Amino acid sequence: MSQPYFGADYAALQSFDPEVADVLLGEVDRLRSGLQLIASENMSSPAVIAALGSTLTNKYAEGYPGRRYYGGCEVVDVAENLAIERCKSLLGADHANVQPHSGASANQAVYGAFMQPGDTILAMALPMGGHLTHGTKVSFSGKWFNAVHYGVDKNTEDIDYDEVERLAKEHKPKIICAGGSAIPRLIDFEFFRRVADEVGAILWVDAAHFIGLVAGQAIPSPVPHADVVTFTTHKVLRGPRSGALVCKEEHAKALDKAVFPMMQGGPQMHTIAAKAVNFKECASADYQAYAKQVIANAQQLATSLGEKGIRPTTGGTDTHLSLHDLQGVQVTGADAEKRADAAGIVLNKNAIPFDPQKPNVASGIRVGAPCVTTQGMGTEEMKVIADLIHRAITQGDGTAEHSVAQDVRAEVTDLVTRFPAYPEPTAG
Ligand SMILES: *Cc1c(COP(=O)(O)O)cnc(C)c1O
Repeated sequence: MSQPYFGADYAALQSFDPEVADVLLGEVDRLRSGLQLIASENMSSPAVIAALGSTLTNKYAEGYPGRRYYGGCEVVDVAENLAIERCKSLLGADHANVQPHSGASANQAVYGAFMQPGDTILAMALPMGGHLTHGTKVSFSGKWFNAVHYGVDKNTEDIDYDEVERLAKEHKPKIICAGGSAIPRLIDFEFFRRVADEVGAILWVDAAHFIGLVAGQAIPSPVPHADVVTFTTHKVLRGPRSGALVCKEEHAKALDKAVFPMMQGGPQMHTIAAKAVNFKECASADYQAYAKQVIANAQQLATSLGEKGIRPTTGGTDTHLSLHDLQGVQVTGADAEKRADAAGIVLNKNAIPFDPQKPNVASGIRVGAPCVTTQGMGTEEMKVIADLIHRAITQGDGTAEHSVAQDVRAEVTDLVTRFPAYPEPTAG
């Protein structure tokens, strides 16, 4: 069986371990048969997946290119140097570290480089759109550091910039963090830079969600303004599941030491090679067109859902995702997630600003356009998807047997047949 997007040798896996081989096929089938609207997900290319499924996974390469703790690194050094150079050029950065294993690992390195336990960070609150690693109590960041949180303005539902400035002056944080997981609007990086300078703080932008839109030159870049920008490589960017960071030259040494040896051991050279491939993809005109289409699609989806009474917070989006308040259609986030899923639409419940519900119920959903745009869908398809979401979550009962779920699923099947996620696995 020829499965280019499974990496090296699917046939060998299939004969040795049919159970796991079935999981790989089953997941391709799941991706191909439903609509993937999770804002933090994307579908990486066969080239990226080929690099991931390579013997580079075997190599120990603690250290950095040319300065390793192991012999035999001359080949993988080429991959890491390519990844570093491509990343710097893609984002116009002084310095790049491509070793973080994930977004959370990259963020850990920021704390490691600039903070001592007990020091203060100012960041966005998780229920307002922030991230676990921005000082929540369940994360290392909130257990070992003093986190002060800003939120969103009650009227605009966008970042409360006055509160940012007030809290910065009051608490004099070591780090001010901008960025999060459910922020539909552009972030005013100049503003954050000015406030950070006024209180002598490091400005850290966590661009995990939107760095792909920056790489595709579809939205303004935080790189000229921030001391350090961390990101994931698997969200809009569309690379392997991993992380990276870029920073100003003056912070290069501190951040490199914080990634290794402070926070991580050996780098994953197969993933670093896949990041190099991804950065090359992102420098293409095709990817730039993709990034712009992601935003156009997200905006259409937000508008069309809004027209059906599923209100987008902040009134819409400038990015790849929108957050929707379901109180107008009297459905909880948890029920919406379940009903959509039963109809072949994968999305997530999400707290909305000032949410009256508990986080595991929530009053909202978050939807994103990265996957469906990778599949080649455009704004016309977004109008159809908005209608399908509306029908599924207001009329379904959460079971796949319900007639509305079945009707919606039939239309989902029509869409994904016209815009397949990956080619159909073929025997051969
Ligand atoms: C996704 C995300 C992360 C974490 O990335 P992982 O790769 O899951 O560790 C960090 N920060 C923000 C803002 C994110 O959205």
